[in-house]
Amino acid sequence: MKHYFLGAAANYKKVWRHVSARGSEKDASELTSYLSEKYRGETILTKNGRSALSLALRTYFKPGDKVMVNGFTCYAVVEALEAAGIVPVYVDISAKDLNFDVATLKRAYDRVASTNATQSSPAVKNEGNEANALPKGIIIQNSLGNPVDIVAIEKFATERKMLIIEDLAHSAGIKYPDGREAGTVGAAVVFSFGKEKSIDTISGGAVVLRDAIYKVNGAHVNLPQNKARTSDNLRARFYPLFGKIYRGLSYVRLNGAFMRMLLAMHWVEKSADNRLDMTRKIANFEAKLALEQFRELDKKGGGPLRTFYLLDNRADVLSLLKESGYFFDGFWYERPVSPERYYARVRFPEMECPMAVAVSQRIINIPTYYSKSELAQAERIVREQGKIWEGGK
Ligand SMILES: *Cc1c(COP(=O)(O)O)cnc(C)c1O
Repeated sequence: MKHYFLGAAANYKKVWRHVSARGSEKDASELTSYLSEKYRGETILTKNGRSALSLALRTYFKPGDKVMVNGFTCYAVVEALEAAGIVPVYVDISAKDLNFDVATLKRAYDRVASTNATQSSPAVKNEGNEANALPKGIIIQNSLGNPVDIVAIEKFATERKMLIIEDLAHSAGIKYPDGREAGTVGAAVVFSFGKEKSIDTISGGAVVLRDAIYKVNGAHVNLPQNKARTSDNLRARFYPLFGKIYRGLSYVRLNGAFMRMLLAMHWVEKSADNRLDMTRKIANFEAKLALEQFRELDKKGGGPLRTFYLLDNRADVLSLLKESGYFFDGFWYERPVSPERYYARVRFPEMECPMAVAVSQRIINIPTYYSKSELAQAERIVREQGKIWEGGK
């Protein structure tokens, strides 16, 4: 029986190509030029996606500003907001596409407005009072590669003079419903090249700054100056190989022990723990591989990163899947802000985002990098044994 994985670098077809890739400064500048031309702005390459997002936030907002965020996301996003001193306004999602829509955006926006009105006495209601300000931006996530309803959201943002940041970690190369490509709308476009993202070189990121105010505020942004750490470099280089060994060891049930050893030796780092660092550059070999993948996307077009089901009996289905060789735990997302171990720290407003809570308790992901026939049995198990959540329809 063949084994299939969500994660563990199972999306890597060319492990040796990755492990042996050589890059130079020239590759980094080629990637910069490519992104600047394609997305029409100024590109900065970064250590990871969260550093890129934080750079965008720092460029366009002041500490204390509020920015609206998809209420179903990963800790990387929250870390980027925190580092820029931005206050997140979490917006509940739809179970259909795991994104906020204009109705949930409006509800969250109005909630901020009414909280401001009840909390502020005339004495504190002055221009500089950040706590009473309305949200100034929206981060669009296109969860798992599902596009948001961009036309309505853009209109909503324009009417309120809010800036849009497009976070394309899940959605590089996809098209919005109106035919525009993702990354052509916002004041900034952010990419993660992290594990299982739509451009995956294990780590790295980029931001393209497009708004004219960047030219004004640009002086405040310090560009990454330091080279990638050797240890980070090695971890990124060998992860696909470790993933391959891990997957092989699953047949003799030694994969768990192998991964614990790699983590203990710090040869592997969990994605959520990849620290934000706006002083570090991307590793050159990652820039080279990222550019190859962008060019590939230009040919093929983007698509969903993963498909998903919402099940009332998730644990049972996951173990049935496992019995048939499908190791599909590690889904996005197990909590409204994942992973679990960072969740308490985030103080997520569960009462305001009930759909995100319900979805995180029921979601399973099916990877899109296996063929239909390889996934046929998994799909059958879900259809026949899964109790599809009625509330998600
Ligand atoms: C992964 C991810 C990021 C950034 O991740 P890094 O690990 O810092 O590269 C940003 N936004 C979303 C939605 C993500 O899933």
